Amino acid sequence: MSDVVLKLEGVEKRYNKGLAGEIHVLRGAELRLKAGEMVALVAPSGAGKSTLLHMAGLLDTPDAGTVEIGGQRLSGKSDRQRTKARRQDIGFVYQFHHLLPEFSALENIALPQMANGVAKGPASERGRALLETVGVAHRADHRPAELSGGEQQRVAFCRALANKPRILLADEPTGNLDPTTSDQVFDALMTLVRETGLAALVATHNMELAARMDRVVRLENGLLVDG
Ligand code: ADP
Repeated sequence: MSDVVLKLEGVEKRYNKGLAGEIHVLRGAELRLKAGEMVALVAPSGAGKSTLLHMAGLLDTPDAGTVEIGGQRLSGKSDRQRTKARRQDIGFVYQFHHLLPEFSALENIALPQMANGVAKGPASERGRALLETVGVAHRADHRPAELSGGEQQRVAFCRALANKPRILLADEPTGNLDPTTSDQVFDALMTLVRETGLAALVATHNMELAARMDRVVRLENGLLVDG
């Protein structure tokens, strides 16, 4: 059995920019991401990294081509089916943490699990274990505003993994941090990925971080090429 968890084939995406005309951002992008693999997605700003992550994460539908998760073709399916697959299989991390400000770090990780039917006790237990893995367990009861930028981002990683997705999609996850914090936060992300065995696609401008991942793919002229 193939261990490819995310497969993109011939993915195309155009945007209509009004008077500026149409731009063809993705022109047949191909990607295979395997379980346990951490892949860097590198390209200049505006090249289409976020667009590609949106397609991979079933947040948007390609104009052509297919997106498969775990061997199941999901591009072109109904919103309901894509939302279900996204909730089950995909965790997202962005440049900014997007944690809920009125809840503690631990609650931010427990709530998505409870929304999926997990009881509060086990949800909190998993939350604490995840916080432990990224070295923020001592801040579990603090609200996001009381945490440093690096701690907020570590909590956001834990939230993304709360429901045990198979795929993690990260858009410049350390882009908002100073270089030292960025390195430490990236270490935490790598530990989580290694411990869970999930597949991760991480968009980054940071070539040093990209070089630490299992492989690099570049987005060039709307195509993904090995970097
Ligand atoms: P990156 O993440 O590499 O910076 P994006 O995927 O955000 O690149 O954007 C790629 C190109 O597509 C840019 O020119 C951007 O302006 C354009 N674009 C992205 N989203 C939209 C949209 N919803 N409508 C129109 N143009 C868009």
